[in-house]
Amino acid sequence: MVGLVIVSHSRALARAAATLAAEMVPDRPVPLEVAAGLDDTTFGTDAVAITEAIAAADQGDGVVVLMDLGSAVLSAELALDLLDDDLRERVVLTAAPLVEGLIAATVAAAGEATREEVAVEAAAALTGKQAHLGPAGPPHSPGATQPTGPPAGPPEGGPSATVAVVNAHGLHARPAARLVTQVRLFDAATEIRNATTGSDWVPAASLSRVATLGVLQGHQIEVRASGPQAAEAVDAVIALANRAFDETHPAPAEGPVPAPAGQPPPSPDAGLSGRAASPGIGIGPARHVDSAEPEIPGHPSQGFEREWRRVEDALSTVREELHRTRAAVGNRPEADIFDAHLLLLDDTDLLDDVRSRTARGSPAPQAWADAAARIAAEFDGLPDPYLKARASDVRAVRLQVLRVLLGAAATTVPADGVVIAADLAPADAAGLDPSRIAGILLAAGSPTSHGAILARTRGIPAVVAVGPALLAIPEGTTVALDGATGEVRVEPPEPVLASLRKRAAAQASRRTRALSRASEAAETRDGVLVGVGANVGSVADAITAAECGADLAGLIRTEFLFLGRDRAPGVDEQEAVYRQIATALDRRRLTIRTLDVGGDKPLPYAPAAAEDNPFLGVRGIRHSLAHPSLLAAQLLAIVRVAHDVPVNVMFPMVSTVDELLAARRMLDEAVTRAGRGAPPGLKVGIMTEVPAAALKAATFAPHVDFFSVGTNDLTQYALAAERGNPALASLADGLDPGVLRLVDAVCRGAGDRVSVSVCGELAADVTAVPLLAGLGVRELSVAPPMIPEVKQAVRDTDTQQAAAMAARALDLADAAAVRAAL
Ligand code: PEP
Ligand code: MG
Repeated sequence: MVGLVIVSHSRALARAAATLAAEMVPDRPVPLEVAAGLDDTTFGTDAVAITEAIAAADQGDGVVVLMDLGSAVLSAELALDLLDDDLRERVVLTAAPLVEGLIAATVAAAGEATREEVAVEAAAALTGKQAHLGPAGPPHSPGATQPTGPPAGPPEGGPSATVAVVNAHGLHARPAARLVTQVRLFDAATEIRNATTGSDWVPAASLSRVATLGVLQGHQIEVRASGPQAAEAVDAVIALANRAFDETHPAPAEGPVPAPAGQPPPSPDAGLSGRAASPGIGIGPARHVDSAEPEIPGHPSQGFEREWRRVEDALSTVREELHRTRAAVGNRPEADIFDAHLLLLDDTDLLDDVRSRTARGSPAPQAWADAAARIAAEFDGLPDPYLKARASDVRAVRLQVLRVLLGAAATTVPADGVVIAADLAPADAAGLDPSRIAGILLAAGSPTSHGAILARTRGIPAVVAVGPALLAIPEGTTVALDGATGEVRVEPPEPVLASLRKRAAAQASRRTRALSRASEAAETRDGVLVGVGANVGSVADAITAAECGADLAGLIRTEFLFLGRDRAPGVDEQEAVYRQIATALDRRRLTIRTLDVGGDKPLPYAPAAAEDNPFLGVRGIRHSLAHPSLLAAQLLAIVRVAHDVPVNVMFPMVSTVDELLAARRMLDEAVTRAGRGAPPGLKVGIMTEVPAAALKAATFAPHVDFFSVGTNDLTQYALAAERGNPALASLADGLDPGVLRLVDAVCRGAGDRVSVSVCGELAADVTAVPLLAGLGVRELSVAPPMIPEVKQAVRDTDTQQAAAMAARALDLADAAAVRAAL
């Protein structure tokens, strides 16, 4: 495969362009090297670095070099002179535009084009934009490598077919890239045209030419081919189009689930189920709230000036509303949600899109609705479940602004009872009064959506993703939900209701008891102390953790400091944030986990190659050891804090002792650099999330002070069931005896000196607490609001009995059997 090299004055720019291009061909990584900047922040180019990048990118088929401007070109030419003759002959410098050219070149290289073809594709990359905007100057720079004219098309009369494009944004960059890589696999010359607009034919193997077709959702494309595999090529394109070009979310993100027109209501005592989102039992009459999107009337635009002013006025009204809601929520973690919504109102990508749609003649509501739906669809398409769930934030803001633009009323809850809605925006969830609302049932949504997070922190039981049948339940019908299991009952018979009420009352009194003793230490009935810490993902979480009685921070997910920004936080910034967490927790012990990112949570300033399976890729400690300067800076910040507060340093996703030793060496270097000797309370441990590491606990034990079992990842790896996949939710249960055996292996391998804690979600499952204590776990770390009840579950445990019960659980068949036994 042909390799590519980006030469730029800026390393950040080159890396970002590389990440963007790699995304076009996630299944076929192209060798792509960056020779940019003098270091991470200093602009400049270096001919020697360029020669090294070329040598690294060459796999034998040669290299195409793309440059930005000025000295980048001179340095690239100098680099050519420095190369061996043999390699020099395989290198092509192209005057292609850097970003567009790189994307076109990447797609062509992934399709096994020759280096000359790759260079031609790159140089032609402005064609799509020029066709769209019209030429605004000379069509190409003198000296640029130019396309050699349209490739010879297939003769007419070969196989052909027509298909509709269903993708929300038509044949935009990603689906077009899928098309190009697909047709390049066949020994055929394949052409495509936009039959709806009556465009000319263009080669389907050229990304830049396909971009000129302007294919939108609903357009028909016609495909024809010639050559030995012509029929296969045409069939493959039709099949690809029918699969929506393998985009995960081809349909527009148009907000909540539509009401099921004509769907009969669930019969009495019908059982529905959804995803458990906020624990507790809720019983009451169904109260539908209108979260539907208001209809956009077809009024014509009144001109750009007036329509844009309408947008600005609506934005400032919503800004005020959000500030009010944020103030009402106070200094709690969920306030961050409204900060994020406020940022969305100023998002330049979103606003530029709205502005250009209004300039092109869309009235304000339509322009806003379409532009915000586009951003939501982009989030929907992301692989990470957390980021994917952020689409619901965009939809919430979209709806809020749209309502203001159309003068429609906001969501209101008519009377006390169980709220039923298609989806619930965070602002609406924040406005619910827990004393009036017995529970929340949503047809859509996910447990990580902000509506669900707010329900949890406000203590309202909730079940989400129940499906559209929920919306057909008649107003006032008695419904009951169990927010811990996701179970929903419609009009349950009186004996079932009575037993649910009893359980609800028992839960309420347990919660009251737990809250009254939240700040006390948790000791089992037979006097064994079990520390209950907090999982912390922000300074606000640490404040809540202290209010909820945390004994320590058992897991600080430091990713929050690194994600969603253009450059890594510096040592001073990190130190300041860790100190703020320490202050919020009144200088209790902090377990600071080093950065746990990778292919599933990429950082723009530490780009990773596209991976087929990021959960099994370069993440956690593997990523940190591959980016030593990031790890060194983080460890230095941690060591500085550790001189004043007791600190556990915890390395994530460790698989081998060598990884641990390499990380420990870097920690020693950080101690030396900090220059104050070894911090007195510093302890070192690893997360056991990889099954192999759990089984090798005794091998790791001499090198650590503690193990912390990450049951979220350990469960997904042990059961080969991805943690965010709703279809596998019942399989990916940490109570599976296979997972429990791994926890048992860690406890036995740890011996007497090394302590074992659990910081995955299993630790917050109060039914699992005695089991974990019975296996030998002596510390649990959970989401802050769960601390009081987890402490109470510890107090209700006898470790002798729990050990016997745990031994029996290891021999059971599956998680359901373990739950039944508990
Ligand atoms: C885990 O895997 O259990 C864990 C606590 O880590 P995270 O959820 O951050 O991956
Ligand atoms: Mg993990």
